[in-house]
Order: sequence, then C-alpha cells, then structure tokens
Amino acid sequence: MLESIDAGTRLCSHHLAEHEAVARQAVEVMTEWYDLSSAQARTQLREWASRCDASACQVAEAFVHGVYLGSPTTCPPATVRRLERLLREFTGHAEAR
Ligand SMILES: [Zn+2]
Repeated sequence: MLESIDAGTRLCSHHLAEHEAVARQAVEVMTEWYDLSSAQARTQLREWASRCDASACQVAEAFVHGVYLGSPTTCPPATVRRLERLLREFTGHAEAR
C-alpha cells in the first residue's frame, strides 16, 4: 500500500518500497511549488498519471528525477515529456478547472 497516494491509485506492476519514497518526495515538492495541500498534490499526481497513461509510481519518478532533480530516471522519456507538457499547463488550481 502506497501511503503517500490514496487507495485506488494505479501502482506499477513491479512496485517497490523505493517508489513510496519517490512518491512522498513528489508530493512534498508539489506542495512547495504549487502551494497545494498534500491531499491536493496526491489527487494531482493521480490525474497526471491517468493523463500520461502511466502508473502513479512512474509519474512520481518522472516528476522527481526527470523534472525536479534533472537526474537520470527509469521512467520512459515519452512519459517525462508528457508530464512536462502537463506541468506547463498546470496552474496549481486543479479544483477550479
Ligand atoms: Zn511502484
């Protein structure tokens, strides 16, 4: 169970403990960057996952390593690019849309 993402979230097929650490870090960075509550950040992570057609784990990985740290990521480059496009559109007020 991924405690940093709510139940019902699509997890990857090879889920590892380290994914949970990455997901927690993604939520932390999102709360800072976008002034979201952690519940809002988790909701947004799920929305990005569904819009990227990826698991929440992959999107968290793409966000933390591909976007935030700019470090090598295990996430497919196509997913990182899709996430980057979504981030450019994202205003931080998902609920208002
Ligand atoms: Zn996972």
